[in-house]
Amino acid sequence: MKIIFFGPPGSGKGTQAKLLANELNILHLSTGDILREKLSDGDSLSIKLKEVMSSGNLVSDEILNQIIANKLMSEECGNGFILDGYPRTISQSDFLVSFFKSNSLILDVIFNFKIDFKLVEERIMLRSKQEQRSDDNINVIKTRLDKFIEETYPVSKFFSENYSQNFFTIDASQEVSKIQKELINITKKGQK
Ligand code: AMP
Repeated sequence: MKIIFFGPPGSGKGTQAKLLANELNILHLSTGDILREKLSDGDSLSIKLKEVMSSGNLVSDEILNQIIANKLMSEECGNGFILDGYPRTISQSDFLVSFFKSNSLILDVIFNFKIDFKLVEERIMLRSKQEQRSDDNINVIKTRLDKFIEETYPVSKFFSENYSQNFFTIDASQEVSKIQKELINITKKGQK
């Protein structure tokens, strides 16, 4: 099964993607996690990444597309995958759609997490205390939400229009267990 998750930072999509990937026995592919792992390399790329990520801005499309192309071709993805945090720009989305086409892959489900931005800010502030992420403070949160609106919202709109049969909007303000049940039900049913 091949699934995409959309949603602003702090919408809980990472938690849900992890739970669902476990349930379906497929790979959870979080580009944020992959990039954070690279930060510890200590090379010039990692210094550049750290600068961009801690400001709340987006890392270049070339780097992301390369990461995703390598991952999707790997055996880890044999059973399927959940893309969490990618595609985030129209250029990434174009790349992904043509990658799917040229490799005869079919997108099964798209989840779009919807949540009030005030609630998101509160959640991220709480997470910053628990996880000490350098990109979780109020100014950076605002940049990340702006990036979401400017860059990623048009991507989710593209998928809602072009893959409407497989596109499901989720009320992300609900409890974790309730959302999880909803996602499992939808993936089991397949299409609308
Ligand atoms: P996340 O954990 O998904 O919120 O990602 C943390 C940070 O990693 C983002 O604020 C971006 O700087 C970077 N990042 C993750 N995924 C992408 C992507 N698809 N395109 C560009 N930058 C990304």
